[in-house]
Amino acid sequence: MSSPSTIVGVDLGGTKIYAVAVVDGEVVATAKRSTPRVGGPAAVLERVADTIDKLGVAGAVRRIGVGGPGPSIAGSSLLGPAANLPGWDRPVDIAGALRRRFADAEVRVDNDVNAAARAEWLHGAGAGADDLLAVFVGTGVGGGVVLDGRVRRGAAGLAGEIGHLVVVPDGEPCGCGGRGHLEAYAGRAGIERIARRRHAEGEATALVELAGDGRMKSSVIAAAVADGDAMAVELVDRAADVVGQAVASVALVVDVALVAVGGGLAERFGEPFLRRIEAAAATALPWPSPVRVVPTVLGDVAGGLGAALLFDEERS
Ligand SMILES: [Zn+2]
Repeated sequence: MSSPSTIVGVDLGGTKIYAVAVVDGEVVATAKRSTPRVGGPAAVLERVADTIDKLGVAGAVRRIGVGGPGPSIAGSSLLGPAANLPGWDRPVDIAGALRRRFADAEVRVDNDVNAAARAEWLHGAGAGADDLLAVFVGTGVGGGVVLDGRVRRGAAGLAGEIGHLVVVPDGEPCGCGGRGHLEAYAGRAGIERIARRRHAEGEATALVELAGDGRMKSSVIAAAVADGDAMAVELVDRAADVVGQAVASVALVVDVALVAVGGGLAERFGEPFLRRIEAAAATALPWPSPVRVVPTVLGDVAGGLGAALLFDEERS
């Protein structure tokens, strides 16, 4: 059953496409497909359209919001370049492609992390707040900022991307090509890279034994920490500490007090991880810390819901 107020939101990720149908801020249907690895942007956008079809929203789809892993300038429907999407090496016009399948649809585009931050602000951990920093600690580290009741997008839609703040000058290599970035210490992939290198240099750790040749999942990191593996404990503690330091830096610039932390690694380690972030932020700030760290609440649905909420103009 379709309603004139149905909005479709799409979280376009490097491994999966997650679409939601939203009516009055409530998610009423969801659909998931894998992101194609070949065929470039055209194949990816065909799959986005297929995923929207799978929602079963009867009748015309009139409003589509898309959040994706790259820069997006407010007011345009261009997304990219996006290193996590195959062949997406330039800005791509999302609206033009989707209107071939959904004629007359209005299409709005945002960076995926800004979208997730918008959802947490309007319907999750930040509901009712005017200011919020949302931080997602997963394979990498992303962030979004809400200030004075607006998602702050910035010139390229990348405001709040704290994963690439330098936390250690000339430190560990980051996936972006830089060095010493937050993500290189706090993201799951960064932790894996450090653990494998130190293991190859002769240091014992259950992390590499448990992961074998496979990806070092957050469940593996959690199992090693639970076993008291010294390197695992050190790397996870440091992850929380550097996130806390970065949070303090953001707080110094824009004086945001409410910080919602989510993502796979943060969800895995729960309250102790969040409290350690809060303590590290307090240590880094030169005055009594106003920073309160709370868990995100929307999980996987945040990106799609936040993309749909691009149409909630009054508040975002
Ligand atoms: Zn980086």
